[in-house]
Amino acid sequence: MVVSYKHEPFTNFADEENRQEYEDALSRIRRMDLGKEYPLVIGGQRIFTDDKLDSYNPSNTSQLVGSVSKAKKAHVDQAMDAAYDAFQTWRGFSPEERADVLFKTAAIVRRRKHEFSAMMSYEAGKPWGQADADTAEAIDFMEYYGRQMIELGKGKEINDRPFENNSYFYQPIGPGVAIPPWNFAFAIVCGTTVGPIVAGNPVLLKPSENTPVIAYKLVEVLEEAGLPAGVVNFLPGDPEELGDYLVDHSRTHFINFTGSRQTGTRIMKRAAEVQEGQNFLKRVVAEMGGKDTIVVDNEADLDLAAEAIAQSAFGFQGQKCSACSRAVIHDDVYDEVLKKTIEHTKGISVGDPASENPYMGGVINRKQFDKIKNYIEIGKNEAQLVYGGESDDSKGYYIYPTIFSEAAPDATIMQEEIFGPVVAFSKAKDFNELLEIANNTDYGLTGAVISNNRQHLNRARYDFNVGNLYFNRGCTASIVGYHPFGGFKMSGTDAKAGGPDYLLNFLEAKTVSETL
Ligand code: GLU
Repeated sequence: MVVSYKHEPFTNFADEENRQEYEDALSRIRRMDLGKEYPLVIGGQRIFTDDKLDSYNPSNTSQLVGSVSKAKKAHVDQAMDAAYDAFQTWRGFSPEERADVLFKTAAIVRRRKHEFSAMMSYEAGKPWGQADADTAEAIDFMEYYGRQMIELGKGKEINDRPFENNSYFYQPIGPGVAIPPWNFAFAIVCGTTVGPIVAGNPVLLKPSENTPVIAYKLVEVLEEAGLPAGVVNFLPGDPEELGDYLVDHSRTHFINFTGSRQTGTRIMKRAAEVQEGQNFLKRVVAEMGGKDTIVVDNEADLDLAAEAIAQSAFGFQGQKCSACSRAVIHDDVYDEVLKKTIEHTKGISVGDPASENPYMGGVINRKQFDKIKNYIEIGKNEAQLVYGGESDDSKGYYIYPTIFSEAAPDATIMQEEIFGPVVAFSKAKDFNELLEIANNTDYGLTGAVISNNRQHLNRARYDFNVGNLYFNRGCTASIVGYHPFGGFKMSGTDAKAGGPDYLLNFLEAKTVSETL
């Protein structure tokens, strides 16, 4: 009997015992794991290659986290064979049996929670609370999708006639590819992999080259819970070498992607092309970027507004597609909200989450570090730098929290996704204009409105054009099963990860009608 779903609680790090346990997990990794070599996993076989991907701690770039074997195109073909073999049996497991593997995996991860979170503090620069939430979200994906599959396994009711018996049920579509990002290095890797798997489809998982070690840990724990060989295949490597090849492959049934707009649109286009020998259409789930806005009305709790902006802009260094990078404030309260946000930001600490518990760590890599710095320079020419703007790469890729004011709605820093700890403030004269500026972007992922005016909230409910809209809170931190996640416009296909319709992306519905 499966009890109803509830999200995994977060660890309270104000509690000394919890802090100690997390420090123990960090020190165990330091002693036992750092610098280890990791293989590919194909059909349950470990394969070590000579060519390696080295993964470093972004907050302490001299620290090697792990050295991971790189897959080549031939490995993709091999993994595809293994996935097709595994499909023959995995598709015959009942939804309950498949869900059970996810529930067991969730139980193991829950028991060893800090081990996974601490690895993200090393490999992704995740501050403790953020890493803990990431692991909790992975657990939630497994608990939630398992239950969803059991529900969908029953099929749906349709009509019969006196001379006719009809049924409607779901079946898996076939093996496919998961290409998750580095920013939710455990949660999204887990969600994009186990969603298709619990629906019955083996997966070729290509983790981000920034965070392959924590992705390997997921594969390991899925195997430990009894996932049959070949149902998940682990293929880290160079995106230039593997990306197009995986997407174009004539045997790939779906591509479950979360990442940049540029890569997402490229996948969409390539997947539309029917390859020789391919007799089905590929499904694409592409969750892409965001340029997310917090709107502050003139009747609003201004302390709440400042806190929501700072947390949403700077949590995990602003490296969430849900991060607040635009604060659009009513004229009447603009100065006060800006002042309070700066005050709040002054309390933010920056450091290496693998050796202390700062609010922010380093940004993921050199390329992102340079890109964010460049946006800060652009910002200085188009708006007022009122806080931060500094960076330091002497030990890790540190960018300090940065606030611009007086940004014009069309300014580059108000339009392009920065994916770093940078927020731009803009002014509006009334609620119409607040919404107009909020909607003035190519993206439509998340947004928040801080207001005590019920009429304005009601208007925003329909007119603020984003997939995840929040009232009187920040615009990040969606929870599986509570805030199904996905966006409109150039934010992607709105697959709503962690929502009741998600698994339908990896299932096909079949109608059987028998004349009696
Ligand atoms: N679901 C996450 C949130 O609500 C963001 C996911 C992402 O950055 O891809 O903050």
